[in-house]
Amino acid sequence: MEERIYANVSSTELSGIDREENQDTRTKRMQQTVVKATNRRSRLAVVCMGLLCVLLMTTNVVLYMYYINVKEEKNSLAQTIFSLRANFTAERETLLSSIRNLTEEKDQLKSSYQNLTEEKDQINKTLTKERDQLRSRYQNLTEEKDQINKTLTKERDQLRSRYQNLTEEKDQINKTLTEERDQLWSRYQNLIKEKDQIDKALTEERDQLRSRYQNLIKEKDQINRALTEEREQLRSRYQNLIKEIGWKKFGSSFYYISTEQKSWIEARKDCIKRGVDLVIINSREEQEFIKKQNKYVWIGLSDTEREGVWKWVDGSPLTTAFWKSGEPNSNGEEDCADSFSATSLLQTWNDASCSNQAGWVCESTLPY
Ligand code: CA
Ligand code: CA
Repeated sequence: MEERIYANVSSTELSGIDREENQDTRTKRMQQTVVKATNRRSRLAVVCMGLLCVLLMTTNVVLYMYYINVKEEKNSLAQTIFSLRANFTAERETLLSSIRNLTEEKDQLKSSYQNLTEEKDQINKTLTKERDQLRSRYQNLTEEKDQINKTLTKERDQLRSRYQNLTEEKDQINKTLTEERDQLWSRYQNLIKEKDQIDKALTEERDQLRSRYQNLIKEKDQINRALTEEREQLRSRYQNLIKEIGWKKFGSSFYYISTEQKSWIEARKDCIKRGVDLVIINSREEQEFIKKQNKYVWIGLSDTEREGVWKWVDGSPLTTAFWKSGEPNSNGEEDCADSFSATSLLQTWNDASCSNQAGWVCESTLPY
């Protein structure tokens, strides 16, 4: 403020220099005014200084109070910071552990990702190959389908043509058949009439025949009865006669035992001449009966048709045999069987040359 005042004074003085000679009176007045103003300013400065002291004291008190509060807040903040630091350390350890776990998981995931990538590449490769194969097969199938379609179309056209021809033929045949059917129907009706007439005639004839048949049945019964009586008489007479000429009865058969000796064929001829044939031995009992005649005889058994296949004279095969031990041995040409005296009842047969001379046995199995 004093500098400004002095500045104003200086400026006034500078102005006054310019107007020095004209304004001396005004300058003296100005100097008195400045002295008075300076006194007032000094008193104002003292008052201000007092006020400033009071303000300074007040400010110091306020600052001290503020300092106390700040100190308490600082302690509180220190405790808070300590607590936060402890929490921060624990959380940091937790976070570090989490980070380590996450790192391990990340490594595992990275490994899994690499494996998956490799698998994906492999699958892609396989799928690409399969896709190419499928595409190739699809193309082949498409070509085959086109070929088949072409063939089928051709065949269909041929079949359609044949179907049309067949339809025409069928119509022609239908027409012909209809005409034939009408003709046949007409003939059928005529035949029905003829049949009725024939039926009528046949019925009459049948009735006549039935009557004649019944008469014949009655006649046949009378004849049967007469024949049965006659047969019984003849059987009785035959049995008496056959016993009288020396035939022997065993079971249901009669046997002729020869007293001469002939070849097998001549012996058989003799039997046939008597109305029978050489003996066929059907059972152990019949074998024992023949053995007990104690003679060297031909029996009706031979393998002349086929060597080793023995057959009876009625054509039946040999089933139960009574060969001697070591027989049949086909010693040379031996195709005919004989029964010879031996110690065993059931081992008497031998195969011998058919031209040998031996006795023979004829068997009559006739039902009388
Ligand atoms: Ca017999
Ligand atoms: Ca022999």
